Amino acid sequence: MISFNVPPFLGPEKDYISQAIDMRKICGDGEFTARCSKWLREQTGSSGVLLTTSCTHALEMSALLCDIQPGDEVIMPSYTFVSTADAFVLRGAKIVFVDIRPDTMNIDEKLIESAITPKTKAITVVHYAGVACEMDTITETARRHGLFVIEDAAQGVMSTYKGKVLGTIGDCGCYSFHETKNISMGEGGALLIKDPGLMERAEIIREKGTDRSRFFRGQVDKYTWVDAGSSYLPSELNAAYLLAQLEMAEKITDARIRCWERYYERLLPLQERGILELPYVPKECKHNGHMFYIKAENLDERSRLIKHLKENGVEAVFHYIPLHTSPAGQKFGRFSGTDRYTSTESERLLRLPMYYGLTDEETDMICDSVIKFYS
Ligand SMILES: *Cc1c(COP(=O)(O)O)cnc(C)c1O
Repeated sequence: MISFNVPPFLGPEKDYISQAIDMRKICGDGEFTARCSKWLREQTGSSGVLLTTSCTHALEMSALLCDIQPGDEVIMPSYTFVSTADAFVLRGAKIVFVDIRPDTMNIDEKLIESAITPKTKAITVVHYAGVACEMDTITETARRHGLFVIEDAAQGVMSTYKGKVLGTIGDCGCYSFHETKNISMGEGGALLIKDPGLMERAEIIREKGTDRSRFFRGQVDKYTWVDAGSSYLPSELNAAYLLAQLEMAEKITDARIRCWERYYERLLPLQERGILELPYVPKECKHNGHMFYIKAENLDERSRLIKHLKENGVEAVFHYIPLHTSPAGQKFGRFSGTDRYTSTESERLLRLPMYYGLTDEETDMICDSVIKFYS
């Protein structure tokens, strides 16, 4: 059976983890966390990088940093992971879902304006499959209305939009290093902050509401409780794994893109014959090979294809059930305008195996199984 995902492991992770153990420093914010943060600052060009325990937590920190209050509205797509909404719901926000574009599965930037009300505080975008949203339009809309932009770039590490690194375009950018993502630390993430003025508050929120980060830098002579906060810092053991992954991020990304392109080439004839649809990447977007999906005709055809692939030793999976159709989505959110594409497109989408180490032979075998299904 070819699994849908295998967590990335290249080798040097083990050595770094044992170094962390040997240093007798396994709690957060040690040398490995510092080296990961430095790598991320240099790679992304962002001056404000904080390693977190997950992307979910980076999103929660973003909600705290833009001071979301009960009754505030946050605009986002319904076609996303629950954490995108949860982070704001925990602060009492109302979620306003906006339809997606059928080509990229990203929020339709042209529909955002009509979803804005006097209560709107922020727009949270999701770069689905590591392909950027139309950020120029989105940041311009946000600027005109004085709204925060939060990028859920969980899937977008190493991707760019018009040469800009995803996660650095909005006010806050949230990365995931979960084992299902391109670059991993088991569970973990990072928060990228654009305004240096927000960095001190972010450090305090992350360290249980204390100014411990300033204390460690020698800026204050004792640390104390200064604000509300939580514990959002990962262990050095996880950071050690991540550092090895970051140092090999280019190699991992290149391999995934090669695999993505192989899928695309082999399946292109099916798209040309109008049998299925392949992902679309706008020319201003450079993606990271996070996901390869295909779109079947409808839900029924997709279910039959999943079954066919399983019988042929391939684990293919569908993705998000739109949040506005879930019990919590109905309780905490509302859909702005009509659901023209969110439900129908999500029912057609099927993700094929994609991970570092998936071989050309396996990719070809998967493509052959898809082609066989349609012949
Ligand atoms: C994976 C993912 C998350 C959650 O990431 P964690 O690090 O597991 O919290 C959030 N949003 C999107 C779009 C994701 O794909």
